[in-house]
Amino acid sequence: MVYDIIIIGGGPAGLSAAIYGLRARMNLILIEKIATGGQIALSDDISNYPGFPSLSGIELMQKFEEHAKGLGLNIVYDEISDVSDQGQYKLLKGLEGTYQAKTVIIAVGASPKRLNIPGERQFIGKGVSYCATCDGPFFKDSDVAVVGGGDTAVKEANYLTKIVKSIVLIHRRKEFRAEKIIQERLHNAANVTLELEHTPISINGTKSVESITIENVKTSERKTIPVKGVFVFVGINPQTSFLKNLEKDENGFIKTDHYTLMTSMPGVFCAGDAHSKKLLQVATAVGEGALAATAAIEFVCDVC
Ligand SMILES: Cc1cc2nc3c(=O)[nH]c(=O)nc-3n(C[C@H](O)[C@H](O)[C@H](O)COP(=O)(O)OP(=O)(O)OC[C@H]3O[C@@H](n4cnc5c(N)ncnc54)[C@H](O)[C@@H]3O)c2cc1C
Repeated sequence: MVYDIIIIGGGPAGLSAAIYGLRARMNLILIEKIATGGQIALSDDISNYPGFPSLSGIELMQKFEEHAKGLGLNIVYDEISDVSDQGQYKLLKGLEGTYQAKTVIIAVGASPKRLNIPGERQFIGKGVSYCATCDGPFFKDSDVAVVGGGDTAVKEANYLTKIVKSIVLIHRRKEFRAEKIIQERLHNAANVTLELEHTPISINGTKSVESITIENVKTSERKTIPVKGVFVFVGINPQTSFLKNLEKDENGFIKTDHYTLMTSMPGVFCAGDAHSKKLLQVATAVGEGALAATAAIEFVCDVC
């Protein structure tokens, strides 16, 4: 069967695109490799999505999924490893099967960046974590480090203040890039110490994390701080390496036409964190899902 639209990825962008596509009565499926919800399902609290002042990421994404399923969404669980243009249709290769569609919406999002320092890989799951909501409770009453200075780092550090004994927040710059409102919350927490203008050098231990060594970016002076956990929030990488036929920017984010979100392959659109843009958030992902779906619907109608 040749579908009108195939959406790859079941995060906010993919589910939003599905809602718009289904309301236009498109024959579509959404293909997801792990579980619907995407990255925001890892967050305990989302407080900047309009209409929902405080909600967990999972709760918000359950609402998205219920909405889409209410319109008849069919979710297929598979990991797509290639998308190619066959003229009349696009061919998607997955680990479980192949799929054909007139248009494709790529909504594959991103995954956390690594520090790439000694000890990081060795201690993943033994003290090194990329998700405070998932792993925070394992560090109840322990001393931990949080690395990063953007929205996610500061927000997740705020979450951890309620669970752990103490946090040392390590950031390479003098100031945080996070929203002021979440910075204020952090400054009010009694159990947070800041190590600004420092970068992590190594994560140390025998069977699990015992300490982190950091370096002053100006003086190169090093010190080792005893911690049981290291939470890393230093940015994200788009999950686009399998999309070899599409134009990308220097960081691997997919380039799109700003008006329609069409990629360099006609009929293939990209929405959400996988595409090159300024703000990676649920609100932007949702808007782009709607826009990509609308452009895909027009493309289907033009070729039929
Ligand atoms: C800890 C944390 C806290 C955050 N807090 C906030 C917040 O408070 N507010 C906010 O607005 N944003 C927040 N964000 C950012 C927000 O989660 C993302 O901007 C948003 O999830 C992007 O949506 P997306 O649909 O583009 O991608 P994703 O959410 O990354 O979803 C992509 C989906 O595609 C699937 N996929 C990937 N590759 C394939 C493939 N090859 N085949 C099939 N499926 C595939 C993935 O499994 C995933 O389910 C946070 C992120 C993190 C990690």
